[in-house]
Amino acid sequence: MTRADAPVTPPAVLTIAGSDSGGGAGIQADLKTIEAGGGFGTSAITSVTAQNTTGVQGQHLLPIEEIAAQIESVRSDFDLGAVKTGMLATSEVVDLVVEHAPELQNLVVDPVMVAASGDRLLDEDAEDAYERLFAEATLVTPNADEAEVLTGRDVEDPEAAERAGRDIVEMGADAALVKGGHITGEEVVDTLVTAPEEAGGVTSFRHDRIDTAATHGSGCTLSSAIATRLAHGDDLSGAVSAGIDLLARAVRYHHDVGEGPGAVHHMV
Ligand code: PLP
Repeated sequence: MTRADAPVTPPAVLTIAGSDSGGGAGIQADLKTIEAGGGFGTSAITSVTAQNTTGVQGQHLLPIEEIAAQIESVRSDFDLGAVKTGMLATSEVVDLVVEHAPELQNLVVDPVMVAASGDRLLDEDAEDAYERLFAEATLVTPNADEAEVLTGRDVEDPEAAERAGRDIVEMGADAALVKGGHITGEEVVDTLVTAPEEAGGVTSFRHDRIDTAATHGSGCTLSSAIATRLAHGDDLSGAVSAGIDLLARAVRYHHDVGEGPGAVHHMV
């Protein structure tokens, strides 16, 4: 039986992030996750990292004009359903995204600062610039360490995560998802705080902690999965819930690759 041609138009999703040559995090994780979620993945690369499962061996920031040109090429051609940001590296790059934000919908900001290996992926002076980007964001997805840097609070339990989430919403984000993976406890509790003009509430997502060190790429995978669901038209809490479920599977069925602790599975 022959099939009739059926053009398929998946929602396009743009990732503005760094390249991880080791394939576990960054642009590579984002594109795999977006495609697995039924989106069409496009990218603007901010920085090229020489990296593997054991750590980051080198970083090369692209000239700002080259980053701007990639965003413009993609934005002018595709009807973007969502955009996610990952490693933005410098305050100049953060401000470039701020400039473009009015043309973008469903902007998910993963405020990447440090790789799991401990290597810095963001200049310290860029931490303040993030506040300007939050004002444009649909969702900000810090882990507890990033939430501490961004809000100046200790984030050691879900109550503190909620307070930090509220601070980020007060900075202008529509919502903040403060991830609980870095907070000790048998369960992981991720806390979603939404602005009063959105749903205006707090939702806790609880799941069992999976005992593995292979979490490289988990933040990238989660934010890309959520952006892809938003591009498909899910509401925020549905997109967050689907993203968290996907990440739980991605960590459970992680890839045992390389000499280091491995990486999450992006296509589960
Ligand atoms: N982006 C790049 C280019 C990275 O190299 C990393 C970590 O190594 C990240 C983002 C953040 O990774 P994760 O998803 O593990 O938070």
